[in-house]
Amino acid sequence: MKSPAYIGRFAPTPSGFLHFGSLVAALASYLDARSAGGQWLLRMEDLDPPREAPGAQAAILHTLENYGFEWDGEVVYQSQRHAAYDEVIDRLFSHGLAYACTCSRKQLERHHGIYPGLCRNAGHARQDAAIRLRVPELSYHFIDRVQGLFEQHLGRKVGDFVIRRRDGLYAYQLAVVLDDAWQGVTDIVRGADLLDSTPRQLYLQELLGLRQPRYLHVPLIIQPDGHKLGKSYRSAPLQGDAATPLLLRALRALGQKPEQALAGSHPREVLAWATGHWNAGAIPRTLTLAEADLH
Ligand code: GLU
Ligand code: ZN
Repeated sequence: MKSPAYIGRFAPTPSGFLHFGSLVAALASYLDARSAGGQWLLRMEDLDPPREAPGAQAAILHTLENYGFEWDGEVVYQSQRHAAYDEVIDRLFSHGLAYACTCSRKQLERHHGIYPGLCRNAGHARQDAAIRLRVPELSYHFIDRVQGLFEQHLGRKVGDFVIRRRDGLYAYQLAVVLDDAWQGVTDIVRGADLLDSTPRQLYLQELLGLRQPRYLHVPLIIQPDGHKLGKSYRSAPLQGDAATPLLLRALRALGQKPEQALAGSHPREVLAWATGHWNAGAIPRTLTLAEADLH
């Protein structure tokens, strides 16, 4: 079977409801996929049930439908993919590429998030331990379609990172790489808050012999007060009845120039227009919320 030239995806985490920033990411990935004649997949990144907002999964799907988005195939749930994650963790562990870490949060505090490899050679058992991946003392870089060259030294800036937490939960970095490869994703379009996760993901792809997708990180939406519009900041959940105006606003945030006449259109018509007029080259690298309303 010939694999399609373009497979994109949107991968929300149900720790909260969709907000304007997630709409911008969903919209960009959708338009980039559809304008290339590609597929657009939906994956629920439900790796952390304790941090899930009740009702968020259903609300996310419902909101996407209200905004006129149509995805290909069934929604993939990461909660159904544990066996695949375990298989890879076992493999990395048995090859000595990953190891068990028993450090407490307190012990790690003074290292400012960069793990100094304390348990690298300790040979701890896996029970009640986190699993960390050894990273090489190397820089990983890639050319993002919007952000340009991005480079990060894994040893100095990240350190050996967790792929399975001590409480048994799987880490985003591992799950996202395995699932993007498993779903045949060729193009990752997502928020720039994940730029500095990408080198870790490139390393995992290299280690596991997976194909490297193309990347496009859309600008983070910064509120006029300097707050990032995202998970860590309370931004208003999207309202179904305001779909068209918010889609138009999201399009402007992405540097597109929607026609005035679209204001009275159904969200599906807005998406159809925007697919036909998509210009990824017009996406700005950075943005504040006020600018999203210009034009
Ligand atoms: N689930 C992640 C989030 O909602 C996005 C993952 C990705 O697009 O790689 O922030
Ligand atoms: Zn440790």
